Amino acid sequence: MSNQPLIKVEGLRKLYPIDGGVFRKASTFNHAVDGLNFEIGHGESLGLVGESGCGKSTTGKMLVKLFEPSEGSVKLQVGDSYINVSNIDRNSRKDFRRNVQMIFQDPYESMNPRMTIFDIVGEPLAVQGIGTINEREERVAEFLEMVGLTPASSFMFRYPHELSGGQRQRVAIARALVIEPAFVVADEPTSMLDVSIRTGVMKLMQDLGQRLNVTYLYITHDLAVARYMCDRIAVMYLGKIVEIGPTEELLSNPRHPYTKALLSAVPIPDPRIKRDPVMIEGGISKAIDPKPQCRFYARCPIRDDHCKTNPHPTLEMKGSGMQVACYKVPAEG
Ligand code: ADP
Ligand code: MG
Repeated sequence: MSNQPLIKVEGLRKLYPIDGGVFRKASTFNHAVDGLNFEIGHGESLGLVGESGCGKSTTGKMLVKLFEPSEGSVKLQVGDSYINVSNIDRNSRKDFRRNVQMIFQDPYESMNPRMTIFDIVGEPLAVQGIGTINEREERVAEFLEMVGLTPASSFMFRYPHELSGGQRQRVAIARALVIEPAFVVADEPTSMLDVSIRTGVMKLMQDLGQRLNVTYLYITHDLAVARYMCDRIAVMYLGKIVEIGPTEELLSNPRHPYTKALLSAVPIPDPRIKRDPVMIEGGISKAIDPKPQCRFYARCPIRDDHCKTNPHPTLEMKGSGMQVACYKVPAEG
């Protein structure tokens, strides 16, 4: 297909008001997502990692238009051109829904408990007006088999509460993929599942993704999961991407002090990857009206005065395809 990216994110921000009430305009804001710029190529899987509260879900929800950005844009390639997700008209709304789906952490919350599995998985087809009811039944059955719910006939007319957590997440995957979307945001899809079945569900998403040429934004707080699922990883810290690049390079040679700290906190079983433990001090947990300085300043082990008195650094190429937002990391090559 084309060499152009499928998704283009430009200057994306989401500010949540903190002190606004019914009668008062907010003057204080939580900068939950604070100026993201990235692209995702066709068929690529980009991981979005970072601690709880750093803005991953808010970002994912803006990409699928569940939340509107405060500023900036998300663009999706449809055919030869891009549609701006924030201002789509009625015609492109259908194109958008046809191409973009989301898989949530808790599949039960995202399913109507009164709908059968057939209705849940078949709904996107019905909404798009694809096929007759018989054709839809055939297609749903095919996708249930693909996600390992076999024989499909024994699941079609059951209800979500009759299934296990793992089976429900498989239903959610079938539902997201049944219209063969170009782009899927998966928000911690395995973190609520029993450890013993996580790998199976990840493998399923990967296999089906490849088979159907799906592009993923894969959200996780777990670097080992991102390593398994993703071609590239973006590390987020309090609303900012601090480092982004190819998975193996990022994990074996992290440049940003926050990425180093994250990696030293979780053992990744690979003898090729050697790390020194890094100490990070506790910092703020929300970027509320943040000062114009590096967002990581309070916790950074290599900070200096320059980082304190200058605005948060922009992402810059530092070598080997890595973009890093840090004044102290030297450019390479
Ligand atoms: P993550 O998914 O990385 O844990 P979130 O995107 O859920 O992060 O949250 C980012 C920040 O935005 C947090 O400080 C959180 O408290 C805040 N936040 C998230 N959702 C809302 C919301 N609907 N209203 C107000 N604040 C929110
Ligand atoms: Mg989240």
